[in-house]
Amino acid sequence: MSVFTNPPFMPGVRHAGEPVPSLWFIFHEGRMLVVAQGEELLLPRCSDLNELGLEPARVQYLGTWHGEPAFSAEIAAPSTPPGMIWHGLRTLLGRFDTPLVAVASRAAQIIEWDRTHQFCGRCGTPTVIRGEERARSCPSCRLRVYPRINPAVMVLVTRGAEVLLARKPSSPKNRFSALAGFVEAGESLEDTVARETLEEVGVHVKNIRYFGSQSWPFPNSLMIAFTAEYAGGEMRPDGVEIEEARWFAPDQLPTIPEGISISRWLIDSVTAEMLRNLR
Ligand SMILES: [Zn+2]
Repeated sequence: MSVFTNPPFMPGVRHAGEPVPSLWFIFHEGRMLVVAQGEELLLPRCSDLNELGLEPARVQYLGTWHGEPAFSAEIAAPSTPPGMIWHGLRTLLGRFDTPLVAVASRAAQIIEWDRTHQFCGRCGTPTVIRGEERARSCPSCRLRVYPRINPAVMVLVTRGAEVLLARKPSSPKNRFSALAGFVEAGESLEDTVARETLEEVGVHVKNIRYFGSQSWPFPNSLMIAFTAEYAGGEMRPDGVEIEEARWFAPDQLPTIPEGISISRWLIDSVTAEMLRNLR
């Protein structure tokens, strides 16, 4: 799912020159500040956050959105400028178009990385921003830290004209999704797919195929989605990560995740093709 085919956003790390009217992604404790204009939610525009009466704890330049500079900021103490509201990031993402969601995702992850890497992980010295690349470095031991991205895989396992969907203990009854898990050190993505499937539901898979990927800023995942075919084993949910797992026919799906997530795109794409083939 790429935003670079006809890019409204061009990434950058340094904004040279005087402050000019810019687009701002402003965060405080997992919420983002938006302008509420009727039903529509817009991003705040200003040259300097002081214009909105906000005191930034940190600011990062992101690049340009339709030629306009875009910044990510975290503010120290929350106040709400007139006409604006603080909105939960997860629900907010469903209200924006996909290219803007990607930039909001980037903005959230960069500011979170900046906040959590103020000190060197090796020697404890306060780190400094490097101007020429997206990194913080330690003036004492020279350790450099870049925004960390945690890869996770998602897999939709098929068996004939059925898909394997699973429910976590924390999910509502009847809300199912594809399997997912974080990549461990030393693993290929295919290794993770095979391991997670076996660990979580006791099933072996074959013919693992790439489907697509999505940045998932809660707080810094990259979700890489696959399809795979059932190769054997008896379904046996592990009871920890997965409470219930079942095979579903494409026309008898349970409640599945909402449209903003790759899990939904994956399930929709695979089941739509199954239905076409059944006709
Ligand atoms: Zn250090």
